[in-house]
Amino acid sequence: MKLNSFNSDESRWEAVCNNNPDADGVFYYAVITTGIYCRPSCRSKLPSRENVHYFTSCNEAESAGYRPCKRCTPATISKQENTVLKIIQACRIMERSEASIKLADLAAAVNLSSYHFHRLFKKIVGITPKQYATKQQSRKFQANLKSRTSVTEAIYASGFGSSGSAYDKNRDQLAMVPKAYQEGGEGISIRYGIAECFLGWVIVAATERGICGVEFGDDPGTLPGQIQATFPKATLVKGGVAFETMITAVVNYIQSPGERFELPLDIQGTVFQQQVWKILKQLAPGETISYTEVANRLGKPKAARAVASACGANKLAVLVPCHRVVAKNGAIGGYRWGKDRKKQLLDSERDQGDGS
Ligand SMILES: [Zn+2]
Repeated sequence: MKLNSFNSDESRWEAVCNNNPDADGVFYYAVITTGIYCRPSCRSKLPSRENVHYFTSCNEAESAGYRPCKRCTPATISKQENTVLKIIQACRIMERSEASIKLADLAAAVNLSSYHFHRLFKKIVGITPKQYATKQQSRKFQANLKSRTSVTEAIYASGFGSSGSAYDKNRDQLAMVPKAYQEGGEGISIRYGIAECFLGWVIVAATERGICGVEFGDDPGTLPGQIQATFPKATLVKGGVAFETMITAVVNYIQSPGERFELPLDIQGTVFQQQVWKILKQLAPGETISYTEVANRLGKPKAARAVASACGANKLAVLVPCHRVVAKNGAIGGYRWGKDRKKQLLDSERDQGDGS
């Protein structure tokens, strides 16, 4: 099995050189000269081979005095969560495909044997891959909700609720108009998790529809309060282990926003705000736009101030990239989570854009 695939120095080094994501969770590598340990897939600079040590767990690496890398955050995801990600990936493949896909092909696409894939899929999603595919094809999946509902289901079933029943329950809720949000989140349960990233602490909050809040702060203790302020009547619950998958995805995205963000968002806002946010989401990482230009694109050239308040009302830091809007004269402009963070974010995005 997979666990035996990286059991020699040679195969491990090869995985590190290739940033092989299949090796993630199987082993970690630490670099003597930096004191940091990474997942094999980490995109950080390739160390000299003689400076590398291998460990099979984060605990081992940390007991040996190494600190987790801030880029690949090796301590925030377990093998099991890696499996969850694979299953979510399989869901996405099925959603995108017009024709039906053979089980063996699907399993191969996510590097699992057919047997394990089928078993894990059933366990995590609550239904078989075939049932999932059938549901995908049903008319109930309206085009505009397609990606959102299906991935939510996968994630929901992977830890937000209890498999089968959650699946149907979630589906009904997705069809409902989210009136509860307008009432401060009354009756809504919001899960959250906190992690460290290069901008300080970040909290990720999600309803069963998707991610509803991403906020930064200097003190992890105050972060749940920030979410509660947005949804004063919602019940905040600390997310379990499965929630780590979501946090990891967000932290990875904050650190390298080039890829498309695949998890569903639960965006609440007025029609105008949503129009503004939509324009922002079309910008490339590192690209900036002025408030006035956003207003122009909306065909409302006098609405620059309203654009600025729509940016200020954004609750999904980075996922809705309001940090890419700057003042007309090139000044950095305001940011809900501090100008310094906005500058750091843009610098980081531009660095990555320069490519290496
Ligand atoms: Zn790393």
